[in-house]
Amino acid sequence: MPVSTLAVRPDTPPPTPAAESVVSLAASAAAILALHTVDEQGMCTQCRTAYAHLTPHPCSQHAWAQRVNQSVPAPETLQLLGLPCS
Ligand SMILES: [Zn+2]
Repeated sequence: MPVSTLAVRPDTPPPTPAAESVVSLAASAAAILALHTVDEQGMCTQCRTAYAHLTPHPCSQHAWAQRVNQSVPAPETLQLLGLPCS
């Protein structure tokens, strides 16, 4: 009896490199949002610690990360596209 050559196809297509870059950008934005927080004087903690800058919160890095975070597809959309939802 011949061995079956049944091919198993995934439910979703593999993510494109462009789609994967959106996910890594979202991870970078999440890390920046976690680091660039406000202190008790209203300044950015990470800008003071890493760059020795007294920058009012939200700093430019935090504002950029917020814009990226708002432009990233919802987890349901990522799941539909077969991308990790982290
Ligand atoms: Zn900052």
